[in-house]
Amino acid sequence: MNGRVAVLKAYGGEFELREYPVPDVEPGAILVRLTRAGVCGSDLHIWRGEMKEVYGAIPKDLTFGHEMCGRVARLGAGVTTDSLGQLLAEGDRIAFCYFFPCGRCPVCLRGELGSCPRKGRPNRVAGTAPYFNNAYGDYYYLRPDHYVFKLPDELSDDIATPANCALSQVLYGLRRAGFGFGQTVVIQGAGGLGLNAVAVARDMGADRIIVFDRLADRLELARAFGADDTLSLADLTTAERRIEAVMDLTGGFGADVVADFVGYPEVVPEGLRMLRSGGCYLEVGSIAPGNVFSYDATALVRNNARLVATSNYSPWALEQSL
Ligand SMILES: [Zn+2]
Ligand SMILES: [Zn+2]
Repeated sequence: MNGRVAVLKAYGGEFELREYPVPDVEPGAILVRLTRAGVCGSDLHIWRGEMKEVYGAIPKDLTFGHEMCGRVARLGAGVTTDSLGQLLAEGDRIAFCYFFPCGRCPVCLRGELGSCPRKGRPNRVAGTAPYFNNAYGDYYYLRPDHYVFKLPDELSDDIATPANCALSQVLYGLRRAGFGFGQTVVIQGAGGLGLNAVAVARDMGADRIIVFDRLADRLELARAFGADDTLSLADLTTAERRIEAVMDLTGGFGADVVADFVGYPEVVPEGLRMLRSGGCYLEVGSIAPGNVFSYDATALVRNNARLVATSNYSPWALEQSL
């Protein structure tokens, strides 16, 4: 039996569908028949060729995609439940982490699986066994002993697909930033990450959620997701005016947490100036290399500022997201 994999031959080009043999499952592994895949902002960076440092000057039979869900096609020997102990059978709908904390390095030993230096994803060159290593294909080969969660019927594939990326990452990031009940957060950028962050912050008990974006329809979505104040860059055209607006909304003190979900480095110095003394700046948006900003380190010291940056998440975040 064969399955298809989408392969990118040139940045900005079309995908080519190739067939590879569906592998046998080793003990502890799961073969997943994918039912949905999502297009992440990072996938667009890859496709446009903005991450050549990672993927090479020319994409070499590149396969990618990481937002997905599917049904159990085959269970490896010894797999009887998901990570929560719920019985697992062929045909069950599941979601899973798309990266692989090793669980045994010094970082994992400290309980910080999201920061595992070995968590890298499987091979992205098409034709490398077990062939189905990414989201854009008919199958996904889930390595042995991985984090996997059975999907309840009330979660549709459309909802579950991006939960293993944006939703889990913002949940993890806001938790690491120390965000919690009664606090104020500024969200820079109401794209996929930012909108998820609005909903998560609301659910975590935010007192006030302030969102910046340039596009009116995104700001409208942000309100639907639970934002209190949506501010347009079209109206507030300078950093000074935007910082002043946040100060006005926070009694002159600044926000407890300011989070970048934009990915342009110039928003960082601006966001740092929206923080209250002792507040935390959460950096998530920058993923393509070269996002350099400059800021007065003395201002950080004087404000007792904290900086937290977040890539991926620890597996508990996916369970909570679902
Ligand atoms: Zn993603
Ligand atoms: Zn590790």
